[in-house]
Amino acid sequence: MSKENKEVLLHVDHMKKYFSIRNKGILKAVDDVSFDIYKGETLGLVGESGCGKTTCGRTVLGLYPITEGTVEYEGKDVTKLQKNDEKWFKKRAQMIFQDPYASLNPRMTVGDIIAEGMENFGLYKDPEERKARIHELLQIVGLNKEHASRFPHEFSGGQRQRIGIARALAVDPEFIVCDEPISALDVSIQAQVVNLLVKLQRELGLTYLFIAHDLSMVKHISDRVGVMYMGHIVELASSKELYANPQHPYTKALLSAIPIPNPEKEKNKVVLPLEGEVGSPINCGPGCRFASRCKHATEKCKNETPELKEVSEGHYMACHLFS
Ligand code: SF4
Repeated sequence: MSKENKEVLLHVDHMKKYFSIRNKGILKAVDDVSFDIYKGETLGLVGESGCGKTTCGRTVLGLYPITEGTVEYEGKDVTKLQKNDEKWFKKRAQMIFQDPYASLNPRMTVGDIIAEGMENFGLYKDPEERKARIHELLQIVGLNKEHASRFPHEFSGGQRQRIGIARALAVDPEFIVCDEPISALDVSIQAQVVNLLVKLQRELGLTYLFIAHDLSMVKHISDRVGVMYMGHIVELASSKELYANPQHPYTKALLSAIPIPNPEKEKNKVVLPLEGEVGSPINCGPGCRFASRCKHATEKCKNETPELKEVSEGHYMACHLFS
């Protein structure tokens, strides 16, 4: 499907999120990021830890106030919503958190955790109806209704993440930011949670922003993938294109390190080293943030920030090699 046929659900335009660090200066966690998310798709956001991908997801949802730029949901700038409209957006846009241990209140039963959102948005007011919906949600995520009266500590990591998913679904959202939802789980459980998210998307027509540092899992779930490096998106393309034909020096290095499940190919593969000093996102000035690790860096790279531009249909790059 060409992008003309797709409906933009979320439009992020020149979004910046800076934090003031006492005695140090300004941390530019997300620095001038623009992208669209189409209705019904999964946009993966990948990069090393600290690259700004979680801050990006939280700023999109308004959990962090934006420093500059806009976030439009169905054409409405959600960074400037009044109280009533804020509720309109919060009901539509939910989050699944990274740590299923820390994100569930240990003093609340699973049923109460799921009911909290319903309460906040005045949904399923009739107690019997609410109970039935909680049981239904537990079944949808692969648990059962007996689990409603139990406490989070009685569950495994994978089960807790299923509870986190049920909680997000409780307000019937359209868009979910999945913030590293599998990184705290055992490898054997990760695929089960990803498969559940894929199934829910198909059945409920959900749209995801899927944040992760595991590139192989992102490939499995995403329609398109954006690669972040120190607060910038450096490459964005369809999942198929990005993994088959990576162009940015950073993306190439990241992908070359993914293990291949074939011992012969794994033995012979060439891993591109990520050498050089990692710069700091605090008080950083113009220039490509990857310049200190890039073997192609020139004077221009050190002084001018490359903009994200479309280099072939649907394939965007921020690199002076392509400008
Ligand atoms: Fe390397 Fe320059 Fe491209 Fe940055 S802009 S990735 S330093 S070639």
